[in-house]
Amino acid sequence: MPDAIVIGAGPNGLVAANILADAGWQVEVLESQSEPGGAVRSDRGVHPGYVHDVFSSFYPLAAASPAIGALDLGAHGLRWSHAPTVLAHPLPDGRCATLHRGVTANCAGLESAFGGADAEAWQRLSQLWEDLDPHLVRSLFTPFPPVRAGVAMAARLRAADGLRTLRFLTLPVRRLAQEEFTEPGAGLLLAGCALHADLLPESVGSAAFGWLMAMLGQQVGWPAPVGGAAALTAALVRRLEASGGSVHCDARVVEVVVRGGRALGVRTADGQSHRARRAVLADVPAPTLYGALVGWEHLPPRTRADLRRFQWDFSTVKVDWALEGPIPWTAPEAAAAGTVHLGADLDELSDYALQLSTGRLPRRPFALLGQMTTTDPGRSPAGTESAWAYTHVPQVIRDDLGDAGITGRWDTRETEAMAERIEDQVERFAPGFRDRIVARRVLTPPLLEERDPSLVGGAINGGTTAPHQQLVFRPVPGTGRPETPVAGLYLASSSAHPGGGVHGACGANAARAALRSHRLLAGRVLAPGLAAAQRLLSGRRGQHE
Ligand SMILES: Cc1cc2nc3c(=O)[nH]c(=O)nc-3n(C[C@H](O)[C@H](O)[C@H](O)COP(=O)(O)OP(=O)(O)OC[C@H]3O[C@@H](n4cnc5c(N)ncnc54)[C@H](O)[C@@H]3O)c2cc1C
Repeated sequence: MPDAIVIGAGPNGLVAANILADAGWQVEVLESQSEPGGAVRSDRGVHPGYVHDVFSSFYPLAAASPAIGALDLGAHGLRWSHAPTVLAHPLPDGRCATLHRGVTANCAGLESAFGGADAEAWQRLSQLWEDLDPHLVRSLFTPFPPVRAGVAMAARLRAADGLRTLRFLTLPVRRLAQEEFTEPGAGLLLAGCALHADLLPESVGSAAFGWLMAMLGQQVGWPAPVGGAAALTAALVRRLEASGGSVHCDARVVEVVVRGGRALGVRTADGQSHRARRAVLADVPAPTLYGALVGWEHLPPRTRADLRRFQWDFSTVKVDWALEGPIPWTAPEAAAAGTVHLGADLDELSDYALQLSTGRLPRRPFALLGQMTTTDPGRSPAGTESAWAYTHVPQVIRDDLGDAGITGRWDTRETEAMAERIEDQVERFAPGFRDRIVARRVLTPPLLEERDPSLVGGAINGGTTAPHQQLVFRPVPGTGRPETPVAGLYLASSSAHPGGGVHGACGANAARAALRSHRLLAGRVLAPGLAAAQRLLSGRRGQHE
């Protein structure tokens, strides 16, 4: 019998399993799909000559994450690759805002494209990052409340003009752009980064999220694993197996077995029971765990009531392309970027996000586009490009603002129409793009969920990033910690604090909580026994003296 069972071999599950195995626990990971990785996988399914990441591609959060850093995945075969520039946001007038690794390059780029005042503002925002780093990232990636990192962070905040910094952290990104920049470029870079989460440019905290992603890009880049996203998963699995852990695929967990308020193990779809001596860690979304894998009868009524208020993040449609040549960007700077953001201006980004929030499918979808051969030359033959773009769509479509009448049925017609709409958006900034397409694959919300059941309805972040579902409100109001109402059961997925993205922190927090709880339990059980033994021994010594 293993010490721990981890449900789900996504990055959070695999990081959790590695930490438990490092502590000497026997760990089994049960994964419902036929391969591990969750939303960190790649394949040659679009065209045999091209590697495509099926879901995620760029891993600044992994590169900055103390949890993943501590695993030393380089020793297990992981190598990172970077595009010449991190990110580009082309404008309709042919100018382009570009994010590089290094503050000097960014200030120089902004100065030449948008003027000296915006370069100075970027320098100020970069200085703030320098002042708060690395405590900000540590505070985010440790369990809530981040006691040690938080104390250090508070000291930094005081030094960095605390009240004004706190105000900055609450700003909507639109407001930040108005306050700091005179031209559109830098604000668009930050707003596009904020839209990696389901935040409106007018949302509280969207400036901080956009700034965090941009500053990480400036500091560590947005790297991709050499060979494809699956190389990151492979390194995590190799490391786990080297420590004695194992991953079992095609093993869908249908129940967490609970007796007397404690998780004893799980049951899989084939009817088998798997007992765990010490803990069960669930790398699945909170609504999959509570009320589904764990019956409501084992949970307090309040959890059920809170879960009714759980909010998913936006749904997603992704298109992968095999291209016979590079994308013919009007703005030449976009050709060197790993990621390209496609949206004409801040108003278009705001309209898009508001339309998603109100159930209307945008006519002009803001899209994130990845140029993977530019980032990692081995992904496709020289001179070609392995590319993708995704956009968000409402979880429930009430109306289509385009002319295709897409309803969310996602049949062949709707799937093709949505892909066309994303391609139209690329064509606006790269006329002639379509002529370079050799093959394409469209992943609609049901297809995403079919390949990873944790992407419920096409949501990619395990629940909204909005402040009302962060920290102590994630996934439901509570402690913000991975412990659940069931003893020995821990929430290890991106539904837990600190949320979506490939950083492994949710898994690491869950693993550490399990280890701590076991130590405490062992302490409670063993301490009285040890004390009695000591008393006995000292009594015997006394007799012999
Ligand atoms: C299209 C897309 C693009 C993205 N781009 C990026 C990006 O570039 N950078 C970034 O940092 N993040 C990105 N993300 C987000 C990131 O991939 C996720 O936040 C991250 O994968 C979450 O990790 P996880 O381990 O919590 O869940 P997942 O990666 O979803 O893994 C969960 C695993 O659990 C398994 N599972 C679920 N239910 C069961 C069950 N009952 N029994 C057994 N196994 C089960 C699933 O099959 C899956 O393997 C993207 C996501 C998507 C979908």
